Amino acid sequence: MSRNEPSWRDRYPDEVTCIRCLEVKDVMELDRLLWCERCRRRARDRAGWWGWLFGLILAACVAVYIWLVIRPTDLVIGGWIATVLATAWLGSKLGREVAYGVMRFKNSKAVDAVPPPPGEAPGED
Ligand SMILES: [Zn+2]
Repeated sequence: MSRNEPSWRDRYPDEVTCIRCLEVKDVMELDRLLWCERCRRRARDRAGWWGWLFGLILAACVAVYIWLVIRPTDLVIGGWIATVLATAWLGSKLGREVAYGVMRFKNSKAVDAVPPPPGEAPGED
């Protein structure tokens, strides 16, 4: 991309407040939603936890299905365990992408902001 091409960054001054942590950052560090690098990473980490939760629940459902409906014999039990593990892994990937997408879509303000110490908040007397 050439430097003369107009970009969304031109609409902002050089220093912009990240809407997640409310810290002032260089505009180059922020993305289109005005999330800074650190906030994107934190959102991804958090989405990862939701992803694993989803993956494990999905895997549990698959395990119950295999146990009750397919009724595996001892001979192939390793294959079914592998199936359940693969389901957990894939489910966690899928869940993470969905959770991250939801966070991006909701775009909640100031969720990673650190509240000011007591007594220093404005308008507090
Ligand atoms: Zn931030």
